[in-house]
Amino acid sequence: MQSVNEPFWKHKDLPEMTAKEWESLCDRCGRCCLNKIEDEEDGHFHYTNVACSLLDSHDCSCRVYEERLKLKTDCIELSPDSIDNTGWLPATCAYRLLSEGKELLWWHPLVSGDSDTVKEAGISICGKVVSEEHIHPDQLQDHIVDWI
Ligand code: SF4
Ligand code: SF4
Repeated sequence: MQSVNEPFWKHKDLPEMTAKEWESLCDRCGRCCLNKIEDEEDGHFHYTNVACSLLDSHDCSCRVYEERLKLKTDCIELSPDSIDNTGWLPATCAYRLLSEGKELLWWHPLVSGDSDTVKEAGISICGKVVSEEHIHPDQLQDHIVDWI
C-alpha cells in the first residue's frame, strides 16, 4: 500500500507528474548538453567532454533556456510525451532512471536535500568540459569520456 509520506517520484509515473515535480527531477548535472557519438552498430551513445556552445560550463545552466529549441536545432526537449525514448540520456539522469523503473541515487538533490551532492559525487560536469566552439567535429572522437 502506498504510504502518505512516500515522495512523488516513488508513486507517480513520469507522465503523471506536475510541471513542478517534472522540473525538480533534473539534477542540473549538464550531461545531456554534451556532444555524443552514436555507435551505428549497437546504438550505444558515447559521451564526450565537449559541451553545447550554449551551456554555461561554470554552473551547468543553459544560457538560452526559454529559447533553446529555436536557437539550437539539435537540442532535445524532455517532456512526459518524449520520455519513452531515454537511451540517449546518461545512465545517471533521473528521467532515464525512473523511466527504467530504477531508484534515484543518494546524491540526487531530491534524496539528499542538497544540490551540492551532485558535484560531490562527481556527477556534475561543471568546470570539466570544453565548448564545441573550440573543437572541430572531426576531433570529437578524441574527446570521448567514460563519465562515472
Ligand atoms: S542529464 Fe538529466 S538530470 Fe542531468 S541535466 Fe540533463 S535532464 Fe537534467
Ligand atoms: S541549447 Fe541549452 S539545453 Fe539545449 S543542449 Fe544547448 S545548453 Fe543544453
